[in-house]
Amino acid sequence: MLLARAGFDVTVVEIAPARRTGGYAIDFSGPAHLTVLDRMGLLPDLRARATGGRTSRFVDETGRTLFTLPPEFTGGDLELPRAELSELLHDRGSTVEYRYGDTITALHQTAGSVRVSFRDAPDQSFDLVIGADGMHSVVRGLAFAPEEECVTYLGYQVAGWDLPNAWDLKGEIHLHNRPGTLAGLSAAARNPARADAYALFADPSPHVGRADRHRRLEQVYAGQGWEVPTMLAAFPEATDVYFDQVARVAVPTWSTGRIALLGDAACGATLSGTGTGLAVVAAYVLARELTRTPDHAQAFARYEQIIRPYAARTQGGSSPAELLAPAGRLRLRLRDLILGNRVGRALALRAGGKAAPGPDLDDQ
Ligand SMILES: Cc1cc2nc3c(=O)[nH]c(=O)nc-3n(C[C@H](O)[C@H](O)[C@H](O)COP(=O)(O)OP(=O)(O)OC[C@H]3O[C@@H](n4cnc5c(N)ncnc54)[C@H](O)[C@@H]3O)c2cc1C
Repeated sequence: MLLARAGFDVTVVEIAPARRTGGYAIDFSGPAHLTVLDRMGLLPDLRARATGGRTSRFVDETGRTLFTLPPEFTGGDLELPRAELSELLHDRGSTVEYRYGDTITALHQTAGSVRVSFRDAPDQSFDLVIGADGMHSVVRGLAFAPEEECVTYLGYQVAGWDLPNAWDLKGEIHLHNRPGTLAGLSAAARNPARADAYALFADPSPHVGRADRHRRLEQVYAGQGWEVPTMLAAFPEATDVYFDQVARVAVPTWSTGRIALLGDAACGATLSGTGTGLAVVAAYVLARELTRTPDHAQAFARYEQIIRPYAARTQGGSSPAELLAPAGRLRLRLRDLILGNRVGRALALRAGGKAAPGPDLDDQ
């Protein structure tokens, strides 16, 4: 959007067949996120679409409340459905060409351009290529290093899917733990007839094939009470399924020649709770640097110099999966004790990285 406004010809290649409409709530927190959204002219529209954070209610096998966490624990200053942010960005980038249902298959750099091969379209040359294609980035694999060298599996799988709201759930997220597993339910953001189910579980295997997902959930959650059997039974009928490993991305350098990485492709960390804000701040800085100088190498270097330390502050530390689904009975008891009291909650919130200081956005 910012590059298009500055006169760049921008082409977005998206593997999904159309603009993605599903997904969970995302949130923005702190001055860096809000300043960038304001400078992009998005803040009023985003505020108008904000859903507000939700209380997280941890319950036992019978549904009895163990403790609750305030909305700021999962949400931030501004929370809204992911699809509504995509819609807004899409609508504001009016001169951007969107190509849906395709993917890059090869990248060949020459001195003056990058020749890009597509799965379903003829080759084409571009001045620059930005890989903003997520944690399992194809651009990163083609131009930087294989996935095994960049993505570290953190020992958990995470899943989300939609199902009928059989519980008349309203504004809260209900969560239930057994050692090494978390199951969650909340009402869908804009449709009270639907609900969102979540599963987070320790798993020694980093890869669960698409056909094995339901079986794996049934194995891991076998014998659990609360609403878990109903949630799992709905999985095969879900229309919007997310299932992936909890992982962290580390790439030694975010650019090579005319190709750069952005967002989760460069520095993703599942469940950090700040990935969207970080990606938006990084995109803003990258666009700003590219519009300041015709020297892309200088712009890429400045972008990385500004964003890398910020990313390290928000994405580092232990994985939130260990807090959300502690493996082992003792660890779970300890976690419940910590989150069950005010001081422990405040410390956990601070350690969550949402309050990490932002980059210097007025840097010249
Ligand atoms: C379960 C879960 C909960 C989360 N909750 C939060 C939260 O509460 N708050 C928050 O801020 N962040 C949250 N995040 C993190 C957040 O989703 C990411 O950090 C953020 O979306 C990063 O944006 P991105 O554009 O880099 O990557 P993505 O959002 O992954 O977007 C990548 C895009 O590239 C497309 N793509 C992928 N491969 C290809 C290809 N080969 N060719 C073309 N296109 C391709 C994808 O379809 C997608 O549209 C959560 C993540 C997960 C998994």
